[in-house]
Amino acid sequence: MSETLVTVANAAPKVGFVSLGCPKALTDSELILTQLSAEGYQTSKTFAGADLVIVNTCGFIDDAVRESLDTIGEALAENGKVIVTGCLGAREGEGGGNLVRQMHPSVLAVTGPHATHEVMTAVHQHLPKPHDPFVDLVPPQGIKLTPRHYAYLKISEGCNHRCTFCIIPSMRGDLVSRPIGDVLTEARKLFEAGVKELLVVSQDTSAYGVDVKYRTGFWDGKPVKTRMFDLVRSLGELAKGYGAWVRLHYVYPYPHVDEIIPLMAEGLCLPYLDVPLQHSHPDVLRRMKRPASGEKNLERIARWRELCPEIVVRSTFIAGFPGETETEFDHLLDFLREARIDRAGCFAYSPVAGALANELPDAVPDGLREERRARFMAVAESVSADKLQQRVGATMQVLVDSAPGMGKKGGIGRSYADAPEIDGVVRLLPPEKISKTLKVGEFTKAKIVAAQGHDLLAVPI
Ligand code: SF4
Repeated sequence: MSETLVTVANAAPKVGFVSLGCPKALTDSELILTQLSAEGYQTSKTFAGADLVIVNTCGFIDDAVRESLDTIGEALAENGKVIVTGCLGAREGEGGGNLVRQMHPSVLAVTGPHATHEVMTAVHQHLPKPHDPFVDLVPPQGIKLTPRHYAYLKISEGCNHRCTFCIIPSMRGDLVSRPIGDVLTEARKLFEAGVKELLVVSQDTSAYGVDVKYRTGFWDGKPVKTRMFDLVRSLGELAKGYGAWVRLHYVYPYPHVDEIIPLMAEGLCLPYLDVPLQHSHPDVLRRMKRPASGEKNLERIARWRELCPEIVVRSTFIAGFPGETETEFDHLLDFLREARIDRAGCFAYSPVAGALANELPDAVPDGLREERRARFMAVAESVSADKLQQRVGATMQVLVDSAPGMGKKGGIGRSYADAPEIDGVVRLLPPEKISKTLKVGEFTKAKIVAAQGHDLLAVPI
């Protein structure tokens, strides 16, 4: 075990840094120090001469634990502003709490190992970054191509599945989940920048964390698992503070998704699930090699509706996949009618260069694929129209997307049932009250007066 008290130059803001433990901890220290230096922080030789102290701890054996706790104690006594990182930061104390917090409740933040981003977030919070005339031109949430009030949050890259019609895994590789601390930090920045609707995206949102075995990460000094449930709950709790929505896309109907539905019922995320099912017939799903193809989707959707009756299910399907028989296609239409998918889209199968499905026998002729797509859409539209009709007379919360002239002549918005770009909208009529205005990016309550195609017509109240 070695101890390194790092010294850099003498300009403010200054950070004192103690690195304890093994070479792995040392490399974590190097990453943090590199980042500090890149951002213009200086380091201090002494605790007393620093504006804040970071202690990278070791928790391997009792002696190392004692040394780490003593160092934190010294830093607190001589400086007072202390951030703790490293292995000891991940250790549980008695009764399941965090050991470091139990022993030293006044530390500013505690993270586990490999947590450069979380440590830097805590540093920024307690010792603001020196001004940099170059990078400070970039807004903290980064450059966004969506309107200011909604944003996509990517939680992972790549995919572990090998659907026969898809070449994404060959282009983007296997699933790599982003660290949960990074994802939540980005979400907070987006909310701080005015985002009112966060759209969680990936290739397979339900698989979040599988690649890292649901590793425990850190955020805001607290341990949090890299797992869909923990992510959605944390995002929901965060969004609540900003009065914002969280919407989930690309979720597969795995049993563990059932755990998310009570979070919807609690209001932590929108009761909306985008579940790309692609087909209903087990043989077609097998030929497609779809994830969760063995699940009983009708029962699963029924269960979700039992737990959260207002849930809206959006899905996409493929008509005319190679080998699809008339019976298999009819199975799909029956499924659509029975599952009452609120928002269903359908593509006629089209071969993608490099996809395995191209080698499957019994290709469905082009014209028939199109014909099946049209038949599918006719059923989908009648289910959707029925469902929209049932909303007439209800009052819904609507996020305003467009409101020329402060909405005096009305505007366009969306309810929880409408994701931007892919679903319908709520067409807002002029508000009932003369004094009421509508503003883009703000919510309004609206009374639904009619259904029109995929959209609703409503009066802001
Ligand atoms: S789940 Fe299937 S369709 Fe989606 S990205 Fe992965 S391989 Fe492609």
